[in-house]
Amino acid sequence: MSDISIRIEGRVGHITLTRSKALNALSYDMCMATEKALDAWRENDDVALIVIDAEGDKAFCAGGDIAEMYRTGIAGDFDYGRKFWRDEYRMNAKLAEYPKPIISLMQGFTMGGGVGLGGHVSHRVVCETSQISMPECGIGFVPDVGGSFLLARAPGRLGEYLGLTAARMGPGDAIYAGFADHFIPQDRWPDLIARLCETGDIAVLTNMASPAPESPMATQQDDIDGLFGGEALQDVLNLLRASDSDFAAKTLKTLMRNAPLSMAVTIEMIHRLRGPSLTIRKALEMEYRVSHRIMEHGDFLEGIRAQIIDKDRNPQWRHEHDSLPAIAVSKMLMPLGKDTLSFKEEKTMKIGFIGLGNMGGPMAANLVKAGHEVTGFDLTAPMPEGVSKADSATAAVNGVDVVITMLPNGDILRSVADQIIPAMRQGAVLCDCSTVDVDSARAVATLADAAGLGALDAPVSGGVGGAMAGTLTFMVGGGAEAFATVEPLFAIMGQKAVHCGASGAGQAAKICNNMILGVTMIATCEAFALADKLGLDRQKMFDVVSTSSGYSWTMNAYCPAPGVGPQSPADNDYKPGFASELMLKDLRLSQQAAESVDADTPMGQMAKALYEQFVENEGGKGMDFSAMLPRFENRGRD
Ligand code: NAD
Repeated sequence: MSDISIRIEGRVGHITLTRSKALNALSYDMCMATEKALDAWRENDDVALIVIDAEGDKAFCAGGDIAEMYRTGIAGDFDYGRKFWRDEYRMNAKLAEYPKPIISLMQGFTMGGGVGLGGHVSHRVVCETSQISMPECGIGFVPDVGGSFLLARAPGRLGEYLGLTAARMGPGDAIYAGFADHFIPQDRWPDLIARLCETGDIAVLTNMASPAPESPMATQQDDIDGLFGGEALQDVLNLLRASDSDFAAKTLKTLMRNAPLSMAVTIEMIHRLRGPSLTIRKALEMEYRVSHRIMEHGDFLEGIRAQIIDKDRNPQWRHEHDSLPAIAVSKMLMPLGKDTLSFKEEKTMKIGFIGLGNMGGPMAANLVKAGHEVTGFDLTAPMPEGVSKADSATAAVNGVDVVITMLPNGDILRSVADQIIPAMRQGAVLCDCSTVDVDSARAVATLADAAGLGALDAPVSGGVGGAMAGTLTFMVGGGAEAFATVEPLFAIMGQKAVHCGASGAGQAAKICNNMILGVTMIATCEAFALADKLGLDRQKMFDVVSTSSGYSWTMNAYCPAPGVGPQSPADNDYKPGFASELMLKDLRLSQQAAESVDADTPMGQMAKALYEQFVENEGGKGMDFSAMLPRFENRGRD
């Protein structure tokens, strides 16, 4: 890549930013290339230490490359930015935790993303021209890339001052504030690198370091502590206004330009992080809570527009400096649940997806949104946006890491599996998410195994709504290795994946669950019909049962009585939802399985018979499975 040069020189793994015309702004690809080098050199005994430097006199790295982030964000696509940040923060943590010495040589401007690259390594070197800062509050963002870690550890309240004002630190200040370790005049750097390459000995660096220059900020520490000691942004503004010093007036002017929400969140982050248990990961995880939300709910896009795109320097921030609601700050910092920064590598996978109907379509779309390469094949359904269309099932699986099938039934699954298994590459995983019989699931797994593939049966619960929202539950049967491969994809398409056991166990769990569901729905519907005849008001019936021992998912979450309980298909003329014929399919599968293992399931058998009658003879086809209630309403005892 032309923006970064990565090579081994003698004992040194050498990473040089070569994008000096753009002040070495750090692009996504440069981050990923750096991470790849770190991974490759970790176990390589030829590499004793790593040097990170940059071409050009003006800047080591003036920040992250935000052009693409802005372009995608303004178009309403927040996923690009979120992925950029997640992957960059993972690299920042790797730099900080690396088991070998890393030397960063930071001349000129080192800002934002540049601090993330050079500011966390074991040996941080500055020179006469170094100008280090965290300028994010000026563009409606917060100090990130681990910047909050450094700010929280700076002496006194210097972290708050640096984070809010974006003040630039010269070499003395940078060492004083904890953003650098050593001062070495820049003209000595070529000699330093040559000797490191030759010896691989970090002592070379410590021997060459000169005493740190004076730190002007150190002399202002008392003032800074006094002015930035408040609990919240409002306290800082009040203290600055109350002071008659020139320093306070100048600082206040800077703060009035910067984004109020960003500054308030920065103070809160630093306060929460400061303390003995602080780690870089803790700081990055908190920063990511903000990054994840900042385009949608913060001032980031407006800040970039005003500073970089239109350059009018007239940002319209969301809040006024003196009337910022505390809740806006808390909302930015709330935990992210399943989106929490994990530091796990999200490998882009090549995925073949066969069966893109009601369920498969949105599932595939979510995989694309998460950055995976998806090729799809369906006999009739259209391809969701971003899924490449293949002309055949075999073309869809060619060279992919994982194949997902979402098909109507076991016979179709078996015939598709016969076609695709010979076309899949060794080691790939075939993951069937359809609901099928246990025997078909096991037969497909056996075929896949014989062809050197992993195989999973992973039926889902959660319906079309869950497929769209990415909140499905997966019940998974198959080997541990195959499960580990597909687990990151389950996390995208769903909220939970339970590894139930060997091949077939997922389907077994699914049909047992749905047998309970079918039986319970019938029981709930017949109880409502009985209650009607006993003159009991339906709402009262719901109020009692939903909090008594007769409660169930069918009563509490999917109540079959219209106008009672939460919204459900009953409130929409019993349009599915979950169609009666699909329930019948699952009940048939459960009884087929029960027969094959000689299990006594009288309730399941009865539920199957009732849904059979309903679907085949009583107009239940195409209606939600809760339409059993109107069926019972109109019937007598025989
Ligand atoms: P669907 O009918 O909407 O989708 C199935 C798709 O498979 C169709 O687009 C069809 O064209 C395609 N297909 C059929 N044969 C094919 C072949 N040989 N090659 C390629 N494509 C083929 O059904 P759905 O609702 O998406 O359900 C899929 C599976 O998920 C079923 O097994 C169902 O039981 C299960 N499921 C559905 C729900 C739900 O609420 N819909 C909930 C849980 C589980």
